Amino acid sequence: MQTVHEVDAIQRRCESLRREGKTIGLVPTMGAFHEGHLSLMRSARIEDDVVVVSIFVNPLQFGRGEDFDNYPRDLQGDLAQAERVGVDLVFTPSAEAIYPKGFQTYVDVTGLTEGLCGASRPGHFRGVTTVVTKLFNLIRPHRAYFGQKDYQQSVTVRRLVADLNMDIEIVLLPTVREADGLAMSSRNVRLTPEERRAAPVLYASLRLVEERVRAGERSAKDILDAMRATIEIEPLARIDYVVLCDPETLQPIDWIEGPVLSALAVRFGDTRLIDNLPITLS
Ligand code: AMP
Repeated sequence: MQTVHEVDAIQRRCESLRREGKTIGLVPTMGAFHEGHLSLMRSARIEDDVVVVSIFVNPLQFGRGEDFDNYPRDLQGDLAQAERVGVDLVFTPSAEAIYPKGFQTYVDVTGLTEGLCGASRPGHFRGVTTVVTKLFNLIRPHRAYFGQKDYQQSVTVRRLVADLNMDIEIVLLPTVREADGLAMSSRNVRLTPEERRAAPVLYASLRLVEERVRAGERSAKDILDAMRATIEIEPLARIDYVVLCDPETLQPIDWIEGPVLSALAVRFGDTRLIDNLPITLS
């Protein structure tokens, strides 16, 4: 496994691999790996000739007062884990290399980024789509792997790739969870023991939605009330949003007649966690 720090070097290396006829799979990450990240790398390892993982805590996707400075970082541990799953190249650029002096070009996906996390984190998705576009241009992957855990991010990146005619297949993989249902997240290490004990209520509330929908309940308002009540049983949980929306457009749904995505963002102390569960009516 090779670690590459410079943008010119990764571009040259990936260009020469492409010319050799190799397929390139990219897993963009912010590091502090857990099984969710590793599941994406393992899928890329199966599908592609060369697996590239980027580790970059992107300042542009953090708002003022958010946790950029405190975001978990563990480069040495990450490199060891990436090597174990057979990653070929790890790209670890500096913020100065990605956003050099004079940088003034941003990529915005509009409608899809307005609700859910876009509403609570203005500018977040602009940061995501700008850095993802830069990574795609530098690495020119055949496939890029994303987790369903960040559902809004995944549909936004799909839209970006379609709208800008990027010849990249976006592969979306299921959310990896702890045994008690909590979605794995780099931020979970920031939870206090009490918050960690309370956090599985998020997945429990999503499962409750699924049960209610399967039992024939159709009113989003009634289901959302039940979802809120479930989360609020935990005094440490502070709801940012709970929604039932169309899984493709992310527009809120009042009456459930087809596929629906239940999604939430909840704070425990300073730690904001997100999760979601797509539900299909059979
Ligand atoms: P991050 O480092 O948090 O930006 O995540 C990098 C990639 O890993 C994104 O595509 C995430 O959606 C994905 N990811 C994060 N957590 C999980 C999880 N629990 N299961 C599956 N994928 C995940």
